[in-house]
Amino acid sequence: MMHTDWPFFDDKHRELAAHLEAWCAEHLHFGHADDVDAECISLVRQLGQAGWLNHAIGGEGRAIDTRAICLLRETLARHNGLADFAFAMQGLGSGAISLDGTPEQRERYLPRVARGEALAAFALSEPEAGSDVAAMRCSATAEGDSYVLNGEKTWISNGGIADFYIVFARTGEAPGSRGISAFIIDAGTPGFEIAERIEVIAPHPLARLRFSNCRVPASQMLGVPGQGFKLAMRTLDIFRTSVAAAALGFARRALDEGLKQAKERRMFGGTLADLPLTQAKLADMACTVDSAALLVYRAAWQRDQGRNVTREAAMAKLMATEGAQQVIDAAVQMHGGRGVRSGEVVESLYREIRALRIYEGASEVQQLIIGKDLLR
Ligand SMILES: Cc1cc2nc3c(=O)[nH]c(=O)nc-3n(C[C@H](O)[C@H](O)[C@H](O)COP(=O)(O)OP(=O)(O)OC[C@H]3O[C@@H](n4cnc5c(N)ncnc54)[C@H](O)[C@@H]3O)c2cc1C
Repeated sequence: MMHTDWPFFDDKHRELAAHLEAWCAEHLHFGHADDVDAECISLVRQLGQAGWLNHAIGGEGRAIDTRAICLLRETLARHNGLADFAFAMQGLGSGAISLDGTPEQRERYLPRVARGEALAAFALSEPEAGSDVAAMRCSATAEGDSYVLNGEKTWISNGGIADFYIVFARTGEAPGSRGISAFIIDAGTPGFEIAERIEVIAPHPLARLRFSNCRVPASQMLGVPGQGFKLAMRTLDIFRTSVAAAALGFARRALDEGLKQAKERRMFGGTLADLPLTQAKLADMACTVDSAALLVYRAAWQRDQGRNVTREAAMAKLMATEGAQQVIDAAVQMHGGRGVRSGEVVESLYREIRALRIYEGASEVQQLIIGKDLLR
């Protein structure tokens, strides 16, 4: 039985998964490009032309289908980590516009995001405000009918190649998390610069942003003044489960690679698969993959029913990302020396998975969310 046969899905999800699988098999392969920026832009264009990015955006009267974005991320991640990243950032980077944008803002940005013509980014983290988001210092001061932004954002995915950035800044209506607002800042706005490009373990476009007296019209504010923190959390609430789905895709690929290696690698007069320790390892990997899948699609299904998923999404992200790390590590081990050789699929997976346990709420943050929710 395929997991898409589970009762969490409707037939439209099953069709989506089948079409996407065929498209990925034809257009994607696992591995890292030499020019990551160019590869990422090209992937966004391809995903847009093929229509997949329509699922990454919502709009007036159209909620984001969480099961669809999870199936998309799981499948893309299984075929190519950067393709998953490209899809995810179009969703995360435009999610706040889908949720709270005015009709003009939606019209100006969302169709271009969906066609893959405009790349989006989500700029929340700062050098001194990561897990502790409310410690943010980047400010936006009202001056006439403009806002003037000053400060820095860091670890911003698509930083350097995005066409616009959703930037969260302190507007001071109230202390702490209640004095933050969201703005859409177009690349090239005077006073906004890429201060540093950041290289990471699995190459993705990433940057530190700097705002120095960056003036934007008040019409670039998203939603209500002072409600930016809530908007950021609502956006992350949608996409948190999809991070778990991406981890699931990486883990599935690792299990496939492990099975292939076990059957093909000859040793001790037979194959690696003949050894009981290998069978036990594969059993553990398969159990972890299925547990993650059940948690991911429970959370996605529950959100699509319009119910709160704070605890379920945190459980899915925690278990799927931590579990994928273990599954991938086991697959690397089964490949012996080949497992750590640059360019091998399992070596790429080993690098791809690591950041997922840190971003959009580190594992410890998910544990706290689950613990607090249980004790409520
Ligand atoms: C590849 C990548 C892409 C990213 N993309 C984006 C993006 O597009 N937009 C964006 O805004 N941000 C992005 N981030 C930033 C990411 O969200 C932060 O890195 C994350 O929130 C952690 O913040 P930090 O790095 O400052 O670590 P810190 O906040 O300093 O946390 C360090 C560690 O402390 C531990 N920890 C945290 N809280 C607790 C706790 N309560 N109890 C015990 N231990 C705890 C965790 O292990 C955590 O990893 C990205 C990060 C990476 C690595």
